[in-house]
Amino acid sequence: MAVETAPAPVVPALRGAFDRGVTRPLSWRIRQLEGLRRLLLEAGTELEDALFSDLGKNPAESQLTEIGLVVAEVEHTLKHLRSWLRPSRVRVPLSLAPASAQTMLEPLGVVLVIGPWNYPVQLVLAPLVGALAAGDAVVLKPSELAPATSAAIARLVPAYLDDRAVAVVEGGVEETTTLLAERFDHILYTGNGTVGRIVMEAAAKHLTPVTLELGGKSPVYVDDTVDLASAARRIAWGKFLNAGQTCVAPDYLMAPHDVAERIVPHLAEAIAELYDGDPRTSSSYGRIINDKQFARLTGLLDGQEVAVGGRFDARTRYLAPTVLTGVEPDSPVMSQEIFGPILPVLAVDGADDAIARITAGEKPLALYLFTSDRETERAFLTRTSSGAVGVNVPVAHLSVPGLPFGGVGGSGMGQYHGISSIETFSHRKAVLTKRLAPDTLGLVYPPYTPAKDGFI
Ligand code: NAD
Repeated sequence: MAVETAPAPVVPALRGAFDRGVTRPLSWRIRQLEGLRRLLLEAGTELEDALFSDLGKNPAESQLTEIGLVVAEVEHTLKHLRSWLRPSRVRVPLSLAPASAQTMLEPLGVVLVIGPWNYPVQLVLAPLVGALAAGDAVVLKPSELAPATSAAIARLVPAYLDDRAVAVVEGGVEETTTLLAERFDHILYTGNGTVGRIVMEAAAKHLTPVTLELGGKSPVYVDDTVDLASAARRIAWGKFLNAGQTCVAPDYLMAPHDVAERIVPHLAEAIAELYDGDPRTSSSYGRIINDKQFARLTGLLDGQEVAVGGRFDARTRYLAPTVLTGVEPDSPVMSQEIFGPILPVLAVDGADDAIARITAGEKPLALYLFTSDRETERAFLTRTSSGAVGVNVPVAHLSVPGLPFGGVGGSGMGQYHGISSIETFSHRKAVLTKRLAPDTLGLVYPPYTPAKDGFI
């Protein structure tokens, strides 16, 4: 029996506010962005506590990768918003002169932001920056799998932002399904591809455009032209940040045979250095989000050759930063996004082999390259497709507000951050203005006589 889902009353209320023009004025947008900045600064400790409770995240890491990152996004947007919103002139063909043409950005309406559990502050509030700046009303749906953060966001947002136009709906599959039955003007979803398809299908019913921020296996390639100790330190940092539960984390490492062998001790050294000699007791190392993910991740270790780490404790959901060697390309750890602190190291026959393996799979969200060889860099940049590329640095590209953030193919569609958020959450409207007199259009009106041929 089909279950009728009652429409969430929150959406019509927000639509009413949008239709009354509440969100349009630049002054309103700026006030909301300033309110959000105040929320992040004044309630930073509350958010840090929630993130620690959900993910065992160190407060410094929460500032670096979540709270501070959104503050930077707010500042960047406040600095540029006026110029981003300025209409831009477009040349008019001579046949239409005299006339003027321009494009102007207009808000879309009511947008829905659905967030995941892994960066539960950043991935809900960074899209919010763009939606507010674009002049939209917004429904935020944080992940139920990071319950402390979801509750903190639901408590704080109405205290700092205009509740006529910004609402938080908490809940899981049932509540999200109810929300998705509503008509939105844009949906930005971050999470896995299976749910991404559900979101897109629901959106299609209303012809609602979607931005899908998905995941996948982001590869790293390292060759012998770089200092392996330095490369290993950066790779270990990017991989084991948030205990590997990062959408843009290096998923697996490929290197020519000798490099694949030589880099392993450097990875072991880097892990010891980053986590005070013992990740289990280090306050800098996080925990796995829940028992289900923990069981999946420890299952991936079955039958594998553990070169570094491999220890775990189910009670505290601790899984050591782990490096695997001798991994078969068709093993489970290579057939799914790992999304945890396990790094397979694969020996390959050089850059061409690595490129062939990458292009044989789904397009990754990020691709990382450790090389000082220009030709190798060019080969990866021009022969592979991915959401982003980091040359000699993983993960950090998403903290550059001027760079668009998003996937391609299997890793998603659409982009946000900085001006890309404004483009995502706005409609670029075309406007042509032409005086009625003199009526130069007379030349194209019927009846079409031979004398007009040259003008049409
Ligand atoms: P999740 O389980 O928290 O789900 C994400 C959201 O979808 C939640 O708000 C949840 O309530 C909702 N949801 C779940 N099932 C649903 C359903 N059946 N119908 C409607 N809504 C539903 O997070 P997740 O999917 O486990 O997140 C991990 C994935 O997200 C990984 O693949 C990761 O790579 C990807 N990710 C991508 C980015 C990015 O920016 N591209 C960032 C973080 C995570």
